[in-house]
Amino acid sequence: MEEELKLVPSNLRHGIKPKSGEVTNMQRLIQSGGAIVTSKVVYVTYYTQSGSTTVATCLSLRDAWREIRDKAAEILPTVPWKFFSGNALHSQYEFVSNEQVWNAICSARYYNFEYLEVRLERAVNKQNANCDNCHTSITGHRFKCLECSDFDICSSCEGRSAHAEHAMLRIVGPERTHIPIWVRERIRI
Ligand SMILES: [Zn+2]
Ligand SMILES: [Zn+2]
Repeated sequence: MEEELKLVPSNLRHGIKPKSGEVTNMQRLIQSGGAIVTSKVVYVTYYTQSGSTTVATCLSLRDAWREIRDKAAEILPTVPWKFFSGNALHSQYEFVSNEQVWNAICSARYYNFEYLEVRLERAVNKQNANCDNCHTSITGHRFKCLECSDFDICSSCEGRSAHAEHAMLRIVGPERTHIPIWVRERIRI
């Protein structure tokens, strides 16, 4: 873990061999000379409590925040995340806008390549429900039984096929997931 906490991950310090598509991107950016660069190939390291992952991602000035969010959702899909500038040990500030992410990239260069360190923290997504299987309070996706009158399970129990005998309704968040009236009429939400 100590190795990962240094400014640039050890696997990127020597012998960086971007894939052919990335080289083209890189060259195009270099060739653009004095023009204002609005997209870059950035080595993004995502830190979680248990480890880190580095991915080369093309980020744009206009959409950098959404792009790091989407990439995180792709590699670590089970949990909703909040994004901070920082590493495994500490965070400096939360990333909330494209400009801010872009500025962080522009102010951190290591030799010829751009990098960004992102600390992921679980976005608390309280569902106001307890899991009827493991009896913890549910954060993240909530799965509601369509047959039992008041039966919910958390995403990790759902992942282990708890309550397999009944069909479950997935609720990402109370404000985000619309629940049809015909379901509301039959079961307690
Ligand atoms: Zn559970
Ligand atoms: Zn049930």
